Amino acid sequence: MACGLQIKDEESSYNKNLFCIPKHYEEDLERVFIPHGLVLDRNGECLARDIIQDMGSHHIVALRVLKGGYKFFADLLDHIKVLNQNSDKSVPITVDFVRIKSYCSDSPTEKINIIGEELSTLNGKNVLVVEDIIETGRTMRALLSKLKDYKPKMVKVLSLLIKRTHQSSGYKPGYTDKFVVGYALDYNEYFRDLNHICILKEKAKEKYKI
Ligand code: 5GP
Repeated sequence: MACGLQIKDEESSYNKNLFCIPKHYEEDLERVFIPHGLVLDRNGECLARDIIQDMGSHHIVALRVLKGGYKFFADLLDHIKVLNQNSDKSVPITVDFVRIKSYCSDSPTEKINIIGEELSTLNGKNVLVVEDIIETGRTMRALLSKLKDYKPKMVKVLSLLIKRTHQSSGYKPGYTDKFVVGYALDYNEYFRDLNHICILKEKAKEKYKI
């Protein structure tokens, strides 16, 4: 599958005053990290086409990791649907869900809770796991290990964002080490109702802490 758009730290983020932000979040956000338009463009036909090319014509189960990735997931499925309707080749696609809790506020929880739905539908299928953010990869490793029990034919992972972090090797942390919200990415359930992916202010973390 084609690799994603790389956003370098030094060129990333925009003055939030240039964008439409809900009034109730104006004080909480530092910068706009990825404008909604850019997310939609990248997460458009191009990504949908790559997935179909990469996963072949065998039935795909799109596995949505709850709750974070719901906007990314819904927009992606819309594009796959359009491709299925308008091209010679089409792929049956069904959806399934798994809920994972690995973060509280902006800190990883000690234990990763995979709140298992019945995933036996994955047996023998091509599974596309759709996640919102991969940071250390701890959550994804736990999920992939659980999925093995259901004996899928193939598993591919698609993530809206992959952070460069000091916890993974090789990259210097910068903005990507910050906590981002918006486009259904939350901080304790807040900010899902924000279109742009934005960098959260430190003082907002205190304000919405549980
Ligand atoms: P990992 O296990 O890869 O370190 O962390 C992945 C999970 O942490 C994601 O599924 C997401 O829920 C959460 N996460 C990590 N960084 C961020 C962030 O900047 N913003 C939000 N909203 N969630 C994050």
